[in-house]
Amino acid sequence: MVTSTEALIDLKSSNDFFIGIDSDGCVFDTMGIKHKKCFVPAFIEHYNLQSVSKYARESWEFVSLYSRTRGTNRFTALVLTFEQLIKRDSVLKENLQIPDLNSIRNWIESETKLGNPSLKKAVEETNNSELARLYNWSFDANESIGRIVRNVPPFSYVRESLEKMSSQADIIVISSANQESLNREWFENDLKQFVRFIAGQETGNKKECFRQASRGKYLPEKTLMVGDAPGDMAAAKANNALFFPIVPGEEEQSWQRFHKEGLDRFFDGTFAGEYAEKLKNAFLIHLPENPSWQAG
Ligand SMILES: [Mg+2]
Repeated sequence: MVTSTEALIDLKSSNDFFIGIDSDGCVFDTMGIKHKKCFVPAFIEHYNLQSVSKYARESWEFVSLYSRTRGTNRFTALVLTFEQLIKRDSVLKENLQIPDLNSIRNWIESETKLGNPSLKKAVEETNNSELARLYNWSFDANESIGRIVRNVPPFSYVRESLEKMSSQADIIVISSANQESLNREWFENDLKQFVRFIAGQETGNKKECFRQASRGKYLPEKTLMVGDAPGDMAAAKANNALFFPIVPGEEEQSWQRFHKEGLDRFFDGTFAGEYAEKLKNAFLIHLPENPSWQAG
């Protein structure tokens, strides 16, 4: 069987330009609902955080939605959320049972495909109860995403942009969401026709997927990543690609700008430099590094 990684590497270029596009929070307004209604409730339940649920929710949302780590892989987000939670005074008072974060950290460090299939394998190989709990949480979160996250349309100007992009560029989806929800969302909204490949978390991390899809096939200055998170920007940087940010909270204006200006600049070679810098700075201003409850 051909793996998704091999299929990605085997893709041939059919245009001079390459565009990687993120999905959650970039094309679809699904970030809020996925995190608030799916990840957080399962997190509170599986990790017995009922007594500190308000703080657990606040920290989870800061890590995954409202800060520099926005859009990070769910397993990394879980570790970051715990690291932040255990420093909060109101949480310290509760004598919480903190999970063994090291076994989770070790798995994250040793694995590049941070998704349920590889986690399931690690649970079977190690019999580690902390990894088993992580898997059960992640499995339940996927189950509720499948049940709850439906009928979320793409942002305005996404369809028009995809049409315009596909006239001159090869497009693939590069996301850290799970494959099943990605396939459903792109198919449901009739957007799948514009992309050659949908790479979810099971295919690999964003840097890796971008590299496999583009390296040796396009000139770096003719490659671009579109995303709503610093992780998307980092994936672009690691591949010497350009980055167009979809600013959280200003998604429609961002897409409009991309459609009317950014894409033309990318195609005519005037994107790099001052224009790219200006976009990057305006983007990062929206995403703080430290939470407001952490003084100084
Ligand atoms: Mg995103």
